[in-house]
Amino acid sequence: MFRSASLRWPGLLPHAVHGGVLALLLVAALAIPAPGAAASLRYDWQDRFERDDRLRLQRWIDATQAGLERLVGPLDLELRVQMRRHDRAREPVPWAQTLRARPQGVRFHVDPAYPDSAFYGDWTAAHELSHLVLPYLGDGGSWFSEGFASYMQYQVLAEMGALEHADPMPIYRRHLDAARAGYPYGEQPFAHAAASLRRAGRYSVMYWGGAVYFLRVDAALRERHRTLVDVLREYLACCRRDHDRLDDLVARLDGLTGDRLFSRELQRMRSEPGFPRWPER
Ligand SMILES: [Zn+2]
Repeated sequence: MFRSASLRWPGLLPHAVHGGVLALLLVAALAIPAPGAAASLRYDWQDRFERDDRLRLQRWIDATQAGLERLVGPLDLELRVQMRRHDRAREPVPWAQTLRARPQGVRFHVDPAYPDSAFYGDWTAAHELSHLVLPYLGDGGSWFSEGFASYMQYQVLAEMGALEHADPMPIYRRHLDAARAGYPYGEQPFAHAAASLRRAGRYSVMYWGGAVYFLRVDAALRERHRTLVDVLREYLACCRRDHDRLDDLVARLDGLTGDRLFSRELQRMRSEPGFPRWPER
């Protein structure tokens, strides 16, 4: 059945078109990058952890990484996961940080006394691992990087089934309302105020202001029946780099959408007065 269909199909086309169509198919096949491998995680236990705690912490990070890769595709990176203890902490993961030197990865400070449910309900791992989808953008791009990781963390938790409701929009709205209320720079465009927010230690205002960029881009893509994670999947398959300038990254993302959506929205963040407005849906 398959054989006869494939034999008959070219017969429907005039000879001149055959060659052209076949050449186009060949070019298209060559242009689609082969998907990479899933990230391989190497655990480095930098303090003493009980064997059971190691196993359950590793399961939590593996599940988060798998959730992220189900969304955006394989990261194709070797990642180191450093684990340090922080006993008697007020939350399961009081601190974590992305490691950008090769191999890249994340350093977690965890309190293993917390139960599994506390780790799976915590956004830190989803946030830090999401950072590794994009290159390191330097201090000037930190509002963009933090906005991205803040936007993605709830997409990843939703993918893992760790949110009470599948749609994270009500959670975004709560963070965004608080960030807008705490924006102290009046009509100053957000991208220009971001460095001052960071210096002043107003991290959540900087993070969630940056997340507006991704809410806007995702909303615009959805109107075209695509999503941000569709574009990220293509980006990871073709053009991820470890280091990039913000404008170069945005130009790469524009190249994948075939228009100037990403750079236009970046320009809005740099020029529109005040804390950026986000699309409701
Ligand atoms: Zn971050």
